[in-house]
Amino acid sequence: MRFGHTKAQVVVAGGGVAGCAAAIAAARLGLDTILVDQYGFLGGMFTGGNMTVLNSPPTAGIGKEIVDALAATGDAKRCPDDPPNYPIFHYHSEYCTMNVAYDAEMAKIVLHRLVRESGARLLLHSFITGAVTDKDTVRGITVANKSGQQIVEGQVTIDATADADVAASAGAAFRKGQTDKQILFAMTTLVRLSHIHWPSISEYSKSDPGLDRAIAKAIARGDLPFYKPRRQDMTNYWGHARPELSHLVYEDEALFWGGTVEGVDGTDIADLTRAEGEAREQLISELTFLRKDIPGFQKAKIESSSVSIGVRDTRHVIGVSTLTGADILERRSFKDEVAYNMKGGVPVNGLPYGCFVPQKTDGLLMSGNCISVIPGSTEMGSHLGSFNNLKDIPTMWTTGEAAGTAAALAVRANVAPRALDAEALREQLFRQGALFSPEKVRELESARLPSGRTIREYYDDELTSMKHHWRSMGEWS
Ligand SMILES: Cc1cc2nc3c(=O)[nH]c(=O)nc-3n(C[C@H](O)[C@H](O)[C@H](O)COP(=O)(O)OP(=O)(O)OC[C@H]3O[C@@H](n4cnc5c(N)ncnc54)[C@H](O)[C@@H]3O)c2cc1C
Repeated sequence: MRFGHTKAQVVVAGGGVAGCAAAIAAARLGLDTILVDQYGFLGGMFTGGNMTVLNSPPTAGIGKEIVDALAATGDAKRCPDDPPNYPIFHYHSEYCTMNVAYDAEMAKIVLHRLVRESGARLLLHSFITGAVTDKDTVRGITVANKSGQQIVEGQVTIDATADADVAASAGAAFRKGQTDKQILFAMTTLVRLSHIHWPSISEYSKSDPGLDRAIAKAIARGDLPFYKPRRQDMTNYWGHARPELSHLVYEDEALFWGGTVEGVDGTDIADLTRAEGEAREQLISELTFLRKDIPGFQKAKIESSSVSIGVRDTRHVIGVSTLTGADILERRSFKDEVAYNMKGGVPVNGLPYGCFVPQKTDGLLMSGNCISVIPGSTEMGSHLGSFNNLKDIPTMWTTGEAAGTAAALAVRANVAPRALDAEALREQLFRQGALFSPEKVRELESARLPSGRTIREYYDDELTSMKHHWRSMGEWS
């Protein structure tokens, strides 16, 4: 095995949702930036994960640019659930009538082009094996690939692995899951089906909404051995395995939430190995049921499954600040906010810069799924609502852009990320269109949903009902 050594000013570990935005942001500011991923393509869950439908369009910064570039190819379009909240649809919120479906293969190309045009260098097919550290400071990462093993040295490293692989290797403190009880969301394999006839499905579901009757018969026959009814809270996640579906960009396709495995940890290789097999057994039993019993699915064919089972949540590095469920319910803004929790194209609450900076480790910034958040805070126990999980892709793009911009400014100013002037960072993010003025937020909030409610009214109602719910459980005062 050969041993190599590469240097850059900014190293972005993980080329998924947040990592691409981070690399583009840093490289556009003129920094020598290298983006590293284990796969041969970019995008993470957005592409290889088969997400292929966003519950609402991104309205800020680089995320918006990515989806606008995809739309320009003709391979992304608004694709509302039809009829809205159709019982077997995955998306239930009213704002999900703003769904944007897109082609994952085209998304890979668009991302590749945007990253290359930004000037960032790419290192693909490279598994990140750890952090290079000097006491409490990260100086880069180690990777293993076909060329051997390499050190990729950087002045600032951004951990965009979703699992905080770099931070954990550097010894940074973390907790697991989005609640203080460290409960992890379930994992799901997302599957793209083709040869679907939606009009037949809609027609059938008029007499059997939610496919309840057909499901009951199939369970009685023993045909759905993994079936579990949908749960109403977010403990572990909403609960599958009712077959859940969404329209996609092509008329005869459907996104199928294939198999969902609970009680597994995405940083445990035995769990990951078991979950892959179990998810496939689940998805094939559900697909067999759909083909046999539901008109419109007879010719359904699996076009692709996610490159690996979708892991919703693992490590969150403990940051200088931590965002809590209370911050979301109260829609808090922060003096040092540099990104947003986006729902329906609107920022519900801000994300302070401290959520991106590990408490003790230097030379490292977090972005994406592993930033410092516990939406299910101590006051609320493990009960989460659909509104306060913090992982939607438009949110993750804002975290990537914030981290990439912060890394660039820190290198330029020759300061540690924790010493960066957050106000200077915010000014730069405003210039890039990643942060909104209050007038812009009001404009976005006044968009009307099909019910006639504005987005603002929608989420005010949603947050109020969540507060009632938690009050009734004695978890909110
Ligand atoms: C099943 C499922 C359903 C979801 N549903 C929705 C939804 O409906 N709407 C929505 O908006 N969001 C949804 N999400 C959430 C969303 O996909 C994630 O929150 C988002 O992708 C997180 O972005 P990220 O950049 O942190 O991680 P990712 O997009 O996962 O990117 C991480 C990247 O790091 C790379 N990487 C990781 N470890 C290493 C390593 N050691 N070496 C090299 N490379 C590495 C990976 O290859 C990947 O490219 C869902 C997620 C899952 C799993």
